[in-house]
Amino acid sequence: MYDLIIIGAGPAGLTAGLYAARGRINALLLERFSPGGQVLTTDWVENYPGFPEGISGFELMEKMKTQAEHFGLPIRMEEVIGLELHPEKKVVITHKEHLEAKALILTLGATPKKLGIEGEEPLIGKGVSYCATCDGPFYREQEVAVIGGGDTALEEALFLTRFAGGIHLIHRRDRLRAVKLLQDRAMAEEKIEFIWDTVPIRILGESGVEGIEFKNVKTGEISRKEVQGVFVFIGTQPNSNVINGMVKQDEKGFVMTDEKMETSIPGVFAAGDIRSKALRQVSTAVGDGANAAFFAERFIENME
Ligand code: NAP
Repeated sequence: MYDLIIIGAGPAGLTAGLYAARGRINALLLERFSPGGQVLTTDWVENYPGFPEGISGFELMEKMKTQAEHFGLPIRMEEVIGLELHPEKKVVITHKEHLEAKALILTLGATPKKLGIEGEEPLIGKGVSYCATCDGPFYREQEVAVIGGGDTALEEALFLTRFAGGIHLIHRRDRLRAVKLLQDRAMAEEKIEFIWDTVPIRILGESGVEGIEFKNVKTGEISRKEVQGVFVFIGTQPNSNVINGMVKQDEKGFVMTDEKMETSIPGVFAAGDIRSKALRQVSTAVGDGANAAFFAERFIENME
């Protein structure tokens, strides 16, 4: 039996793993894709302390992974498909095996939300994208729409200015949610046009995106714009399928914890974007991960 199994190798999971490995507890980190989490799709991170010039999302995550492994953390590529949460042991079920641990840290992260409008689903990968860093270079000198007014929408719109001919940023209000610095940068960028008080209602095209239809929420007016790409950044939803109500979740499905990062089940902790909280950043995920590992270690000691 492991002392601790951590599920998900984003910034929270890798930090929890680093702390657990340095604490010399018998820990295992499981990851379904490759370590790094959502940060891997971020071109440039400039608000993670210690890198005054900024750092690429990929490089930052490589460093976190290397640091955790340096202290002996085993990282295994296996997708978790089920959990059994007993008071005396937690069982983690993957496609290959049943693993047991005294404590768990859930660092499953979050996934971009979809708009749920006509044309979106069939055109995913054919012009509809949730990652400018991944798909931006396909839109050289083309027109694209960006949906959303938060940090992600503005960062990704700014990234797209390197490639696209024009970016039409569609936001449902007349005020952006993003941090002021990003607002100033985006407003100063000639390639970005802001379309305020507007929601997309349909993505047009058969074999590829040809346009977007949208509605002004104040006037009710419906308009269209010819675009070849639609980038959607309207927030995230928790990767909580495997949790399935076993621990207390908020109305959006994010996992609720106390300040020790402990969920409603003793010995089950949650950290990072999966957790119900106000601010989802690399820096807050890292803090969550450190706390979760610290209190998981105490829980394990008390069990013994
Ligand atoms: P977010 O902050 O939740 O913003 C989502 C945006 O999409 C909002 O402007 C929202 O409008 C809009 N929206 C939501 N649902 C919509 C819908 N159905 N139709 C149209 N528009 C919709 O999400 P995010 O930008 O992905 O950021 C998530 C978290 O990550 C935040 O805590 C953010 O600070 C953090 N983040 C940080 C950085 C960074 O620090 N560099 C970078 C990226 C993300 P309203 O404003 O009207 O609600």
